[in-house]
Amino acid sequence: MSISRRGVLAGGLGAPFVARGLATTGAGAGLLAARAPARAAEAAHSLTLGDSEITILTDGGLTLPASTLASNVSDAERAAFLTANGHDGEVRASALNIALVRKGDALVLIDTGAGLNFFQDAGLLADSFDAAGLDRDSVTHVVLTHGHPDHVWGVIDDFDESERFPNASYLMGSAEWDFWMNPDFLADNPEELHSFALGAQRNLGAVAEKLERVGADHAVVSGITMIETPGHTPGHMSVLIEDGGQQLLVTGDALTHPSVSFEKPDWQPTTDQIPELAVKTRRTLLDRAATDGLLLVGYHLPWPGVGRAEAKDGAWRYVAEG
Ligand SMILES: [Zn+2]
Repeated sequence: MSISRRGVLAGGLGAPFVARGLATTGAGAGLLAARAPARAAEAAHSLTLGDSEITILTDGGLTLPASTLASNVSDAERAAFLTANGHDGEVRASALNIALVRKGDALVLIDTGAGLNFFQDAGLLADSFDAAGLDRDSVTHVVLTHGHPDHVWGVIDDFDESERFPNASYLMGSAEWDFWMNPDFLADNPEELHSFALGAQRNLGAVAEKLERVGADHAVVSGITMIETPGHTPGHMSVLIEDGGQQLLVTGDALTHPSVSFEKPDWQPTTDQIPELAVKTRRTLLDRAATDGLLLVGYHLPWPGVGRAEAKDGAWRYVAEG
C-alpha cells in the first residue's frame, strides 16, 4: 500500500495544520486519517452536452455558520426559512463541485479547489482525478472564476509547491487578477481578506507567466466562453459552454445555495464582497437561466451541483438534475 501525500503531510509535516489550528498528533491525526479520498462513485459525475464531455469532480466540502448566508435579514427569519426548506438553521454545509470539460483536444478545468490549507474536509481534487482515472497532466486549460481560497489554493501542491496541472495554461478575469495581486493589498483592504490575498498571491504568482488575464466574453476554446458575473468578488467570471444547440453555465460562486440563492436572491451572503452588485448579477443570471433553460453547475450547490432555475413567485426555484 502506498503512502498518500496527504498521509505524509499529516504525519510528517505538521506545520500547515498547526498554522491553521489543527492538532497533528493524537486525535488530530485520527481526524486527518479519517479524511479518506472520495470513493469513485462520489468523486466524479459525468454528463454530455453535444460533443462536450463534462465531468464534475469533488474537492470535498466546507462548513460555515448559517449566518454567512445573509447579512441583511434577522437571525430568526433566516433560520425559519432554512429549516422550512430542509436545511440546518445554524450550519451552512457546502459542496465543492469542480467542472472538467473535454472539448476536442482541449481539457478545461474550471477552478482548482482549496488545497490542504483552507478547510479540513476540502482539498480532495487530486484524489478525485485519481479515483476517476483522469490524469492531471492532461489538463490543457485552467479557468479561475475568482480568487477565493476554495477556488485557487489548489493551483500548487501544498507539499512541494509544484504545479498540480503542470501542462495547463491559466485564464482569469483581469479585474480579479488586479484585485488580488495588488502589491498594496494589505494596506488597501480589510484585515479579514489578508490571508485570502496572501494565499491567492502565492498560488497565482506561481503560474503568473502562463496566466492570461482576460476581459468579458473571452473564448477559452470554441464553445467555452468566460462571461462577467461580478459581485461575489470584483472580477468574478462564469463559464458558458455551448454545444449541440444546448447551453450550460458553470456559475462559480454567483449562486452558492440551493434555496437562498434562488428563492431569496436579494439576501446578501457575507461571502459576497460587493453585495448589491452580487444581487444584481444573481438576478440577471437566474432570469437568463430560467428563460433560456440553461443547465447550471454550481460550485457550492449540493453534489454534483447540476440543475436548472425555474421561475417561481417573483423569484426562482432550484431543480437539481442528475
Ligand atoms: Zn467558493
